Amino acid sequence: MSNKIIIAIDGTSSTGKSTLAKRISKKLNYKYIDSGAMYRALTYYAIHQKYISKNHFDKIKLINDIPYIYIDFRKNSTNNKYEVHLNGIPYENKIRSLAVSNLVSEIATVDELRQQMVRVQHTLGLKKGVIMDGRDIGTVVFPDAEIKFYLEATMELRAKRRFDELFQIDKNITYEEVLANIKLRDNQDTNRKHSPLKKAKDAILINTDNLTLDELELKLFNYINPLITKNL
Ligand code: C5P
Repeated sequence: MSNKIIIAIDGTSSTGKSTLAKRISKKLNYKYIDSGAMYRALTYYAIHQKYISKNHFDKIKLINDIPYIYIDFRKNSTNNKYEVHLNGIPYENKIRSLAVSNLVSEIATVDELRQQMVRVQHTLGLKKGVIMDGRDIGTVVFPDAEIKFYLEATMELRAKRRFDELFQIDKNITYEEVLANIKLRDNQDTNRKHSPLKKAKDAILINTDNLTLDELELKLFNYINPLITKNL
């Protein structure tokens, strides 16, 4: 039997965090938690309630709704993946659009919302055996995680990766729109007051530019394996 740990992966968008986290979770039989999906689900809700649009954000109304917003992850029995649910409804298929991506970082600036998300994230990590990716996992959510990675890649490569993904679901999308969204979110995520994106001091920095997914996975496992096989 192996030692169950918490693996934290942070970094800017489209650095390969979720792809790697999913692969690792499968190999270790760990729960993969996409914390960005929680902020995206909140954003979808806020758009739907007309609390937020391009030129307007009624923060107070959204904060007042916190007691009525229940976000969790439930296993989809068809694909065996944990998917984000809001008030019991699966949101996974609704939250990846550019409309949500363009507003999510604004939603993620609100401290009251972040505190609620972190409460849920802590519960999910109680039994360990979790790999969680996001922006503040190693710094705020699990500062004591057994291992932390911080992924980086050039902006152009990240935009290209994200464009290729989004183009599968929306043929009208352009590379320029995706690049603009990545720049916007990088800026908002790194400069916000509460829990800004930054590398935890003890996080391992991984540049994903010139490595294949297999090479990256191997690299991460070289750090993870000694931790899960010790103290048996
Ligand atoms: O990971 P993803 O790109 O889907 O995250 C969407 C947005 O959610 C990020 O750009 C960021 O604004 C916010 N986020 C956050 N903290 C996290 C995860 C995501 O602020 N832990």
